[in-house]
Amino acid sequence: MVERQLRQHKVEIDTDEDKVMIELPETKDVQKEAGLYQSRCRFCDAPLSHTFVDLGMSPLCESYLSAEQLNQMEPFYPLHVYVCDRCYLVQLEQYVSAEDIFTEYAYFSSYADTWLQHASCYTDLMVERFGLNEESHVVEVASNDGYLLQYFVEKNIPVLGVEPAANVAKVAIEKGVPTRIEFFGVHSAQQMAEEGLYADLIAGNNVLAQVPDLNDFVAGMKILLKPQGVITIEFPHLMCLVEENQFDTIYHEHFSYFSFITAEKIFAAHGLTLFDVEELPTHGGSLRIYARHQKDDSMPVGERVIELRQRELDAGLTSMDYYAAFDEQVKETKRKLLDFLIEARRAGKVVVGYGAPGKGNTLLNYCGIRTDFLDFTVDRNPYKQGKFLPGTHIPIFEPGRITEKEPDYVLILPWNFKDEIMEQMKHIRDWGGKFVVPIPEPGVY
Ligand SMILES: [Zn+2]
Repeated sequence: MVERQLRQHKVEIDTDEDKVMIELPETKDVQKEAGLYQSRCRFCDAPLSHTFVDLGMSPLCESYLSAEQLNQMEPFYPLHVYVCDRCYLVQLEQYVSAEDIFTEYAYFSSYADTWLQHASCYTDLMVERFGLNEESHVVEVASNDGYLLQYFVEKNIPVLGVEPAANVAKVAIEKGVPTRIEFFGVHSAQQMAEEGLYADLIAGNNVLAQVPDLNDFVAGMKILLKPQGVITIEFPHLMCLVEENQFDTIYHEHFSYFSFITAEKIFAAHGLTLFDVEELPTHGGSLRIYARHQKDDSMPVGERVIELRQRELDAGLTSMDYYAAFDEQVKETKRKLLDFLIEARRAGKVVVGYGAPGKGNTLLNYCGIRTDFLDFTVDRNPYKQGKFLPGTHIPIFEPGRITEKEPDYVLILPWNFKDEIMEQMKHIRDWGGKFVVPIPEPGVY
């Protein structure tokens, strides 16, 4: 009886052509009070009972510690990832509020040169393909410090950014990129629509994974999109994560991990059709999807959509066996890495780390690698130097420390930049030093 009452939460999403019913999960607190709490799918609300991978307990991966904090309590949260057996959305429960994670965000996109280049190329591509001009309106959700919209501003194309982190939004505004400081969703989209701020292009890069209320977010984009408008969204591709064994890219800040097929299902539920897709090398393999209103047939569904959908079907992304195999694959990687480290340390070798990225923290905490295995790590970012890695408390120094110490092995934590790092640090060969790369398979170079 109580359950029936609890399950009656539905929301009607009014698309142009028909009404789409989405069941909304009750709040966790209400369910817990009724003794009915169970994790449910962020998209389709089915109960979650299938583990994709369980990485144990981990601290938030960007919570670097100062020396004074080492003796204090440190919050750890589960990194237990589930897969929904109805829609195949791979997902992590939200343990920390989005406000806590994102309102004072330390990551400024404009500090990464390659990312700026990516943004500039994207702008040229969109302007040319969709004929954007002074009459158009471009909206970016999670617009960060204006790293992307600044290129549209240069071309005199009106823009609007939406960004919840006030400190980074402020930087964007100072650069001349109008930005609203808020979380994007149905509520903010309706307000913008009332002001006539409909969009010809809505861009969202690496935000979809971080949205706690996925349906509210996609429904918001539907509301804001002009009848002939286009949405482009970039996110890490789940198939790459599995094939390349990139389990260390799982963080508490990333709630959802998408295949193309699941993304297509989610957008379709909100009256949006994916008509094109590109595969990008960013973040270990990402997708850029292109969406439009279902009834806008001016842009037919392209070859690349049909080809990728088929490739995912052939790979088994709509079969639970595909997901069930991942957990064991990850455990085996942990055993291999620990085998190597135990043997090296027993033989009296010195092993240190290179880099202090978020992914390194997932890997080290999951594997239980502390200063018993890695004496220290180094990072070029001055903000991290002098601090300690969350959970494992490995000290972070500046890169020169490696030259002083002359270690036998350097474990590269940001493996996505391994070629660049091996080139920069090639002088370790002078004293016989070697590189170790943990992902996809632990290997010595
Ligand atoms: Zn689901």
